[in-house]
Amino acid sequence: MSFSSGEAESLSAIFARLIASTGPLSLQHYMGEANARYYAARDPLGVAGDFITAPEISQVFGEMIGLWLADMWVRAGQPALIHYVELGPGRGTLARDVLRTMARFDMAPEVHFVETSLGLKDLQLQAVPQAKFHNDLSTVPMAGPLLVVANEFLDALPVRQLVRTPAGWRERMVDYIDGAFVPIAGERPMDAAVPEDRREAPVGTIIETSPGATAVIYELAGRLVAQGGTALLIDYGYDSPRDGSTVQAVRRHAKTDPFFAPGTADLSALVDFATLRAVAESRGAKCFGVTEQGEWLTALGGAVRAELLARSHPEHGTTIRTGFARLVDPAQMGALFKVMGLASPVWPAGEAFGAPVAGVMTALPPERDDPSQPPAGPSIRPV
Ligand code: SAH
Repeated sequence: MSFSSGEAESLSAIFARLIASTGPLSLQHYMGEANARYYAARDPLGVAGDFITAPEISQVFGEMIGLWLADMWVRAGQPALIHYVELGPGRGTLARDVLRTMARFDMAPEVHFVETSLGLKDLQLQAVPQAKFHNDLSTVPMAGPLLVVANEFLDALPVRQLVRTPAGWRERMVDYIDGAFVPIAGERPMDAAVPEDRREAPVGTIIETSPGATAVIYELAGRLVAQGGTALLIDYGYDSPRDGSTVQAVRRHAKTDPFFAPGTADLSALVDFATLRAVAESRGAKCFGVTEQGEWLTALGGAVRAELLARSHPEHGTTIRTGFARLVDPAQMGALFKVMGLASPVWPAGEAFGAPVAGVMTALPPERDDPSQPPAGPSIRPV
C-alpha cells in the first residue's frame, strides 16, 4: 500500500518555519495542506481509523443511490455511453455497492474516480479494478452523460473565514506563538470581500465560505448542462444562511483541536448547500432540492430493503438493522446529513426530493456475496 511514510518532516515543523519566514497562513491554506497530508498518510475510515461514513455502515446506502441513478438513466432514455463519476471515493465501498445495483439494470458505465490520496487509490482499485483516476473533474471525459456521486467529499475542502474586528473585516489566519498554532485576525482589510448587507455585523462575527466546494459545483453543473447527466452530493451541512466557524477536527472518533498537530486529524467544515445550490442554478443546472438523508433513504424504500436483508441473513440481522437505523435516525445521521440532487435541464426530475416515489424503486438489487457489515464505529465525524 502506498500511504506516505511517517518519516517525512512533520507538517507542524513545516508550518512553523513558513510562518516564521513569511508570517501567518490563511486558515484556507492551513486546512488545505493539513488535509492533503492527512489523507495521503492513512486510511481514515472505520473502527481502527478516525471516523466512519454511511457506505461503511450499511450497504443499503449505496444500493439506494444506485437505484436512484438507474431510475434517472432509464427515464433519460438509457443512453449507451455513460460515466459513473465519484468524488473522494474513500475505500471504494460506495462505488462497489452502486455499480452492483446498476448492473441489475444492465448498466455498465465507465468508472471515474476523482481522488488525490495515493494510498486510498490503491484501496479503491481493489474494490473497483476498472476505475480510472483523476485529480479533478477537468480530465473526466467530455462526451456522454455523467452520473456523479460525492459522499463526505465537499466537507473536506478548505474553507476561508472572514471575521469582523473593531477595525473592520479581516481574514482569519493561523499564527505560531510559543510553540502552538493559534487563529488570529489578519492585518489586511477585507471589507470589500464581504457582501454590503453584512458589513455592519457585530464584532466577532465570522463568515465562512468554501471556495473549493464552490469551484467543484460550478464545474460540475457546467458539465451536466453541456453533456447531460445528474449528481447526488451528500454531506453534513445546512440549507439556509448561517454565521460562525464550522471547522472541526476528528481523531479516533472524537473531536479534537483543529490547531493541534495539523495533518494528523481530519479537518472538515459543514457544507453550505444554499450557496452551492445557487451556484449550480446560476450555471443552468436543475436542482431537485436539498433533503435530509433519513427522509431521502426512507422515501426510496431503504427500510424495506434493510429489513429483507436482515431477514435473509439472520446472523447479521442486528448489525444490518442498527446500521440502517443509524443512517436515517434524525438523532444520528438522518437529519444532519443532506442530499442535494442536480441534473441537466433536459434530464427528468429526480425521485425522493419532495414528491412521492413511484415504480422502479421497488426493484431490489442482488446482495453482496458477504452481507456482513464492518462493525459500526462509535461515531461519525460530527459528534
Ligand atoms: N466518500 C467516502 C470517503 C469520504 S472521506 C465515504 O463516504 O466513505 C473524503 C474523501 O475525499 C477521501 O477519499 C479523500 O482522499 C478525498 N479527498 C479529500 N480532499 C480531496 C481533494 N482535494 N481532491 C480529491 N479528493 C479529495
